[in-house]
Amino acid sequence: MILVLLGPPGAGKGTQANLLTKQRSLVQLSTGDMLRAAVAAGTALGRKAGAIMERGELVPDDLVIGLIAERLDQGDAGQGYILDGFPRTIAQAEALDRLLVERGKQLDRVIEMKVDDDALVERITGRFACAHCGEGYHDPYKMPKVPGVCDRCGGTNFVRRKDDTEEVVRARLKAYHAQTEPLIGYYKAQGKLRGVDGMADIALVQKAINQALDPPEGAHKPPNSPG
Ligand code: AMP
Repeated sequence: MILVLLGPPGAGKGTQANLLTKQRSLVQLSTGDMLRAAVAAGTALGRKAGAIMERGELVPDDLVIGLIAERLDQGDAGQGYILDGFPRTIAQAEALDRLLVERGKQLDRVIEMKVDDDALVERITGRFACAHCGEGYHDPYKMPKVPGVCDRCGGTNFVRRKDDTEEVVRARLKAYHAQTEPLIGYYKAQGKLRGVDGMADIALVQKAINQALDPPEGAHKPPNSPG
């Protein structure tokens, strides 16, 4: 199965993608994570992308498309994948369609996670993670049980993303509305789009996504169809 999670920054795409990888044989492909790794490693791509990401703008299409094309050819992506944060522009969506056709595959579903902007700013500016194991937290909603100690690994260092400040979050939302939102129409026209309420609890969102991926038997059958 090849799946795209679409939605503004902070909608919970990463959280839901991570949960889905645990339930199904799928790998999570996050262009944001790949780009942050390139920045941390100081590669040529990382040097080009770093300043753009700090401003909350989108990295040029050709760079991101090259990154994802390379990633699709790694062995572990053969079983199927969840694209988290890609595509983000119509040019990227068209490139994805081409990349999949070239590999004899096709996109199965696009899940749009619907959330409102003000809630997103609060969600994003509160989030932080364990520097050691990556476990995610949120101030004030999900704090470590013992203050300053990671619940999962006992680590005591925590990190916040550089682009999770209010000013940069607003720029990222602006980029989403201007450049990524048009993908909703693009995928609706392909009949692949399903929407879920991203404001609900994590478990409820998860359930809604699973229902969108595996609709109950007969859900889309026209009346009177055989069988
Ligand atoms: P994310 O972790 O998905 O929120 O991405 C963090 C930042 O990486 C974004 O604000 C962009 O600057 C950059 N980025 C990630 N994915 C893409 C993409 N598909 N196209 C362009 N820029 C991207």
